[in-house]
Amino acid sequence: MSKKFQAYRVKEVAEKQYTTSIESRSTDDLPAGDVLIKVQYSSLNFKDALSASGNKGVTRNFPHTPGIDAAGTVEHSDNQNFKKGDKVLVTGFDLGMNTSGGMAEYIRVPAEWVVALPKGLGLRESMVYGTAGLTAGLSVYQLINQGINPDMGKIVVTGASGGVGSMAVAILGKLGFEVVAATGKESARDLLKSLGATECIGRDALNDESKRPILKPLYAGAIDTVGGNMLATILKSLQYNGVATCCGLVASPALSTSVFPFILKGVRLIGIDSVQCDINLRKVVWDHFASDWKVDYPEELVSEIGLDGLDAKIASILKGGISGRVIVKLS
Ligand code: NDP
Repeated sequence: MSKKFQAYRVKEVAEKQYTTSIESRSTDDLPAGDVLIKVQYSSLNFKDALSASGNKGVTRNFPHTPGIDAAGTVEHSDNQNFKKGDKVLVTGFDLGMNTSGGMAEYIRVPAEWVVALPKGLGLRESMVYGTAGLTAGLSVYQLINQGINPDMGKIVVTGASGGVGSMAVAILGKLGFEVVAATGKESARDLLKSLGATECIGRDALNDESKRPILKPLYAGAIDTVGGNMLATILKSLQYNGVATCCGLVASPALSTSVFPFILKGVRLIGIDSVQCDINLRKVVWDHFASDWKVDYPEELVSEIGLDGLDAKIASILKGGISGRVIVKLS
């Protein structure tokens, strides 16, 4: 039986001109899939803002409902692994890109995209993590998997007040790492310290223009969310055998470096992708969030909005103006 629901819609009204509105839709309008989910919470990520502003690298066809994250209860399932009433979450894959996304009261997706909410994690809490948390979790997982531990030295996190960065600071802090938070926001420093950072530095501290191939070794590891010259500076500032993860491009998609950090110091650079990453690896990270990596993410870093609050938050995230996480309450 079809159901009516509210959705945030982005329309292309002329070439490169987009408008947004909240519209009534029917579950009959949703794409084919095994699992119909009544969404209770979504979250806002940088990629949603790109989709909502007509970035064709994220979303090709409009009208469209963004929302790469969704958590809710199964309304109907054609797959034996899920039944009506199950609490589930979906992040990444094609959700919110070219598949109608989580900024709506219903989504319909393939069962292969769905993760059962682990015991110990609430639906709202899962969206406080969302794709940002999963990406931070995958980054921490890779550092540990590459042999980095708290005894080896400091870990620097860039874009530290943003969604991925703040989650990374919190998880690393919880695991006993000494965390250096690199932030452009003076006002975020106290919060970052309360989250788990032992030290805060400005973005300019990671903007080396000297052209020297190697700098003073400061960090055992790094979680980079911004790219550009900050990542290039970090690669030169890692200790011997240091590891950096790279997930984002808010500063720049460019990376100008030399081979010297790699061939003289055994530095490793690990790419992080939360979109297509293996479902079993996702489950490992979500299970960590429900147990030993569960962070006390402060409520003052969580903005909870409805669909009507999205326009303002999307404008803000595009300017790098968000601190922490934005979650969207649906039904
Ligand atoms: P946010 O907008 O929440 O945070 C980004 C942060 O980066 C800002 O808060 C700001 O932090 C910093 N920043 C903003 N502009 C600049 C700039 N010009 N130079 C340096 N730093 C800047 O984004 P998210 O945390 O959600 O995402 C971060 C990046 O990771 C994005 O590029 C996103 O697309 C990518 N991403 C990738 C994923 C993957 O699977 N690979 C998944 C999720 C996100 P501060 O003021 O503290 O410096």
